[in-house]
Amino acid sequence: MSLSGAYDDDNIFARIIRGDMPSVKVWDNNDVLAFMDVFPQAPGHVLVIHKRARARNLLDIDAGDLAALMSGVQHVARAMEKALQPDGLRVTQFNGAPAGQTVFHLHVHIVPVVEGQPHRGHASGGMADMDELKAIAARIAAAA
Ligand code: AMP
Repeated sequence: MSLSGAYDDDNIFARIIRGDMPSVKVWDNNDVLAFMDVFPQAPGHVLVIHKRARARNLLDIDAGDLAALMSGVQHVARAMEKALQPDGLRVTQFNGAPAGQTVFHLHVHIVPVVEGQPHRGHASGGMADMDELKAIAARIAAAA
């Protein structure tokens, strides 16, 4: 999908927001939802999305909604730092299929970095063990 086009109300993240598809929730507020990536690039990989903004990418979103989204990203990143004590954090975001985007509801990746432990490539990892995902989510949630 290119940078321009219509928002698809049936994309995976829209279905997660509606509760039509399960997710491992980490944290939410009125505007923002954070949940575990099921194909994590590293243990603790979280995705953060706006619950109401029908934005496919960074270009589409209203500036106020973007501010709420990024405030949520910072909140979860701080909780991740407390809970998992990584050596670093990668915060990434892709716009359009040629740039690597695979789900067309704007989202921000937060991936903890542990020195000496390489990340799996973007959208190339295997599916995570659900019990492990829930355990890591609970640790981050407790610090959020
Ligand atoms: P992107 O490639 O930047 O669009 O990121 C989409 C991300 O969503 C990838 O990292 C996928 O692993 C992740 N993903 C796909 N389906 C699900 C799902 N049902 N629940 C959680 N994460 C998902």
